[in-house]
Amino acid sequence: MSIIFIKLVLASHFIVMGKKQKKPESTRVPRTRNAGTQTESQFWGGIRAALREKSRYWKPISNVRRKARRAYHGPLKRRKWEYQCNICKQYFDINQTEVDHIIPAGRLACADDLPGFVERLFIEEDGLQLVCKGCHEKKTKAERL
Ligand SMILES: [Zn+2]
Repeated sequence: MSIIFIKLVLASHFIVMGKKQKKPESTRVPRTRNAGTQTESQFWGGIRAALREKSRYWKPISNVRRKARRAYHGPLKRRKWEYQCNICKQYFDINQTEVDHIIPAGRLACADDLPGFVERLFIEEDGLQLVCKGCHEKKTKAERL
């Protein structure tokens, strides 16, 4: 068997594989972004994730955490602080708390959503509150309804 023949067999094999993997055009969401590699929703999802990542180092968030804490005097030797949830008013370990946007940043699905999303995400201290994970989950669920 010649090398050329093997190459032809391999090439035709890949052509068949390529056709099998291709979905019908009608069910495909058009890839309009990033040189034809991303759909609109993938593109905006990436922008949203990048902005949220940036907001992790937002100073008002650490200020809200610091203001919600008090010295811990319980039995755990290594725990220095405990944090008060602004909803249920109970105290928690820092790992059981989150900083909540009182007004959620909301959806980012198109360019028109961008200015409002950025303003709500990068909010100052008065738009943020420290909450326990349980209260945060309840609030988030209620907001989705
Ligand atoms: Zn709570």
